[in-house]
Amino acid sequence: TEEQVIQAEKLSSVGRLAAGVAHELRNPLTVLIGFVELLDERSERKKILMITELQRMNLIIDELLMLAKPQAVEKAVIDIEQVLDDVLFLYQGFFSQHEIVVSKVRKGKVPSIYAEPNQVKQVFVNVLKNAVEAIGYNGKIQVVLEQEQNEEVTIMIDDNGTGLDLVALSKLGEPFFTTKKDGTGLGTMIVKKIMNDHGGSVNYQNLPEKGARVTLTFPGTPVKLLNH
Ligand code: ADP
Ligand code: MG
Repeated sequence: TEEQVIQAEKLSSVGRLAAGVAHELRNPLTVLIGFVELLDERSERKKILMITELQRMNLIIDELLMLAKPQAVEKAVIDIEQVLDDVLFLYQGFFSQHEIVVSKVRKGKVPSIYAEPNQVKQVFVNVLKNAVEAIGYNGKIQVVLEQEQNEEVTIMIDDNGTGLDLVALSKLGEPFFTTKKDGTGLGTMIVKKIMNDHGGSVNYQNLPEKGARVTLTFPGTPVKLLNH
């Protein structure tokens, strides 16, 4: 719809601006970090405080750059469950540190989509990270993958964390909206942009019992690309 087109354009212009600024900030920041690390300070504490804050700026820049990197988008027909498994494997330690049990269910055939695997990875990482942060300590995450009759693939990621508050539900995907003390408010925007770029969508809702559900929807592989 027209509304969706306007949304997508807004997102990409914000992304381009953000990436431009982030890129300009990266070099002076790297220089600063280098100098602070070399400081022969008697007060180690001040030095650590400075480095912590500078690293935080670095993280924000990383996330901003991710938003609009005009990356060579190499889409391919991929097994999305494999991409998910890679991410779950990579973050195994992170989940167990938080005493979180992650389970995965696939309904029906192995879902394949036409996508850029690194970006899909990025989507999973951002959604799972938010799920862990909403749980904090001790809980569960369940992922359900399903390929519909019309070839559309849906992935539901449920957590039993705090759930989204009303403000969060209305502001999700807006840059810099965060309810966390150390949040950047960029994760949901990155997810939204990547899903848009893939002709898919993302939806957030609260679960009746406790926690939140993030639903990712990818269009199915175009028929002409199958069996190639
Ligand atoms: P950040 O994680 O840095 O806060 P995000 O853009 O990733 O930024 O998320 C924005 C906000 O959305 C979070 O601060 C949080 O309030 C809310 N949110 C996202 N995912 C969840 C979730 N699974 N459960 C509860 N709240 C969530
Ligand atoms: Mg986040």
